[in-house]
Parts: sequence; C-alpha cells; structure tokens
Amino acid sequence: MQAERSEQLFALAQTVMPGGVSSPVRAFRAVGGTPRFIARGKGAYLYDVDGNRYIDYVGSWGALILGHAHPAVVRALREAIRRGTSFGAPTEAELALALRIREAFPSIEKIRFVNSGTEATMSALRVARAATGRSKILQFEGAYHGHADFLLARAGSGLATFGLPASAGVPSAWVQDTLVAPYNDLEAVAALFERFPDQIAAVIVEPVAGNMGVVPPKPGFLEGLRDLTRRHGALLVFDEVITGFRVGPGGAQGLYEIKPDLTCLGKIIGGGLPIGAYGGRADLMDLVAPVGPVYQAGTLSGNPLSMAAGRATLEQLTPVLYQQLEERAAQLAEGLRAAAEEAGVPVRIHRVGSMLSVFFTEAEVVDFATASATDRARYARFFHAMLTRGVYLPPSPLEAWFVSAAHTDDHIARTLRAAREAFREVAR
Ligand code: PLP
Repeated sequence: MQAERSEQLFALAQTVMPGGVSSPVRAFRAVGGTPRFIARGKGAYLYDVDGNRYIDYVGSWGALILGHAHPAVVRALREAIRRGTSFGAPTEAELALALRIREAFPSIEKIRFVNSGTEATMSALRVARAATGRSKILQFEGAYHGHADFLLARAGSGLATFGLPASAGVPSAWVQDTLVAPYNDLEAVAALFERFPDQIAAVIVEPVAGNMGVVPPKPGFLEGLRDLTRRHGALLVFDEVITGFRVGPGGAQGLYEIKPDLTCLGKIIGGGLPIGAYGGRADLMDLVAPVGPVYQAGTLSGNPLSMAAGRATLEQLTPVLYQQLEERAAQLAEGLRAAAEEAGVPVRIHRVGSMLSVFFTEAEVVDFATASATDRARYARFFHAMLTRGVYLPPSPLEAWFVSAAHTDDHIARTLRAAREAFREVAR
C-alpha cells in the first residue's frame, strides 16, 4: 500500500504543528507508523491522499452515524451556508434542534449549545457546583470528559482517591477537588461519599465508557450511582457526548432507563460539524446566564451550520435505522469473535449498539486498569494488518469502533475477510 504522499505531508506537518496533528490520537503514536492524510470521505469510505480507500470504523470519532457526506446532511449544509455562516443571534434552527433533542431525552428540559464536548462537561459541572454550593466532582479513572483543567485528573495511589494532574500545565490545586474512582466500582463511590460528606457536587460518568475502549456498565452500576447521588444530595451528570443518539434514540439514559440531572452531548448532534450541548432539569439550567448567576457564553455557539447538519442527521435516525445499526454491529462483533477464535487469538469483544471494542486478552475487562492490561502491542499489529487490507480502525486500542448507517452487509463481510487474515497474522 502506497503511503508516500501521507509520509511527505506528515514530515512537513510535524515542522509546523505539534506531532503534525490537531488532536493527539491522530498521530498514530499508540500504533506506530504514518497517519494517513485524508482527502475525502463518502459513505462508509475514507480516501487518502495516496488514492487508497478504507472502510472507516472511526467515523470522526463517533460523530458520523450516517457515514461520510450523507446527501441529506450535505444538502442541509448547502442551504444553510447560502444564508450565512454565523449571526451571533438566535435562530429558528437552534430552537428546532433544541426541541428535537428534548423530545428524545426526557431528562433534558432545557439545553444550551456550545462548540465542543469539552465545553459541555466543563459548563455542566459549573452548574452542578453552583446548584449544590459544593466544590468536589467525582469522575472515573480512564474516562475522558474533554480537556478542561479540572477534568484532566488521574487516580493517585489507593483505590479511590484525590486526583493527580493527568497533564503537565495543570496545577495540582486545579484537580484537588476532583475525586477519581474505578469505573464499575460502586463501593469506591460509596466510600468517597462517606469520606467527603456534603462536599461532592456531582458524579460525572460516561454511562457506557468509550474512552478506555468500550466498557459497558455492570448491571446495577448506573442505578447505584443514581441512588448514591440522590441520597447524598449530589447531582448525576451523564456524559453522553459519544452515547447520545448512538446507543439508541434516547442515548444510554434511554437504554438503561436512568434519569440523570444533567446530560452532556456532542458529536452526533452536530452531524460532523463542531458542537457540544448540556442540558437537564429546568431548575438547574435556569441557573445559567442570562437567567441565573452561572456565566457561560460563546461567539459561535448554536452555529447555524452545526445546527443544520445536526438537524439533518437526527431526522434520519428512525427506529428502522437503529435496528439496522444493531444488526450490522452484531454481525461484525460475532464475525470478529469467530475469526479470532479460528486463529487462536484470545479476545474480549464488547459491544453496545453500534459502538464496540476488541480487547486482546483472556481476562475480563471492567475498568481502566483491566483495559490497560490488555495486549496493546498486539492491537497495534492488528491495526496495521487491517489498514493494509483497507480497513480503518481507531489508531489506539483504548478507543471505540463505530458502525454507521453507511456500512452495508457487503462492507461487514469484507471487513471480516480482512479480519480473518489479520488475526492469523497477529497469532504468530
Ligand atoms: N466526553 C466524551 C465522552 C468524549 O468522548 C469526548 C471526546 O471524545 C469529549 C467529552 C470531549 O468532546 P470534544 O472533543 O468535542 O471536546
């Protein structure tokens, strides 16, 4: 497979952009090799600058549930762009998207649009702190809620602890109010509530973890969080930036029937354009300016192009489409399992709706520690074995694969043919 042009561009890019990229995982550090420079995308395919075509399972990190350049989204964008790109004033389009989201997420009585998932979580937790008059936030190890300083915390020693900065440039004071517990560990959460009575403003959780690979909540975990937060006067914040409109029409909260106080959204609701949103109980959201004392604003928030792409995307998400996604993703997961077994490669495959992960391990994966202990070097080899066979997987073992509505039975069959060879290759 030719990658000459990507190699040239990557060499030049590294002279002008850190790592040659605009976001770290794109640099292929976790799998090695040269990131492919993408020229265009259409349906299930990505095309790189060397003329290679790949069946794409990254889908702009979960944003593209309809695949690349879906005609309805392109049409909506064309129409919107003629009317202007940004007004810094209210529009009917943002109102329509807000109403559509509220219809799908009964817990969201009011919503505010922002420009990224990072802004959504940062702002939602500002509201939680204001509402409770408390300062501590509890998050889970290996979760990713964007790159706000206080959320770039990792666990210290011990099972459930104060956070330590997970990035240079984050002063320890910024994360001293961030508590970190292992995912799926209710006892650790309960222990933190005991240790810090009346101090925890909110628990923020990816209801299906997607940033340590896909790790589903154990039965009772989300219910337990709902119960503990309620009992201790804290808020429950679901970060559904990935899972919102992904694991079902009502996100993970619809799937597991849990009602959080606040929800963060992003990705799919922008149809591939920059977006984020946070929403929830009206009494909480009315704390946000201009109604309430919590300040939060944005020059490009509610951008008409993002609103148009988001609306056009959500319009396509029918029950039939979710059924089709479920079936295709199940077919893929089953096929991968069979292919790995045939090759004698131990794997654990996790899937919730159209998001899935292949962990190279025999052991159970329930949290960040167990996800990190999988054979990541083998994933890197598998990734390249697939890439050279025209299948584009996430360039990291700790990221989710996404099936889109553009993936057909034929794409899945071809992916599985490649996977049978790739598993045999990495078995050696
Ligand atoms: N929350 C979750 C669960 C995410 O997966 C991400 C990004 O991948 C974010 C928040 C941050 O979103 P953004 O990259 O739009 O800032």
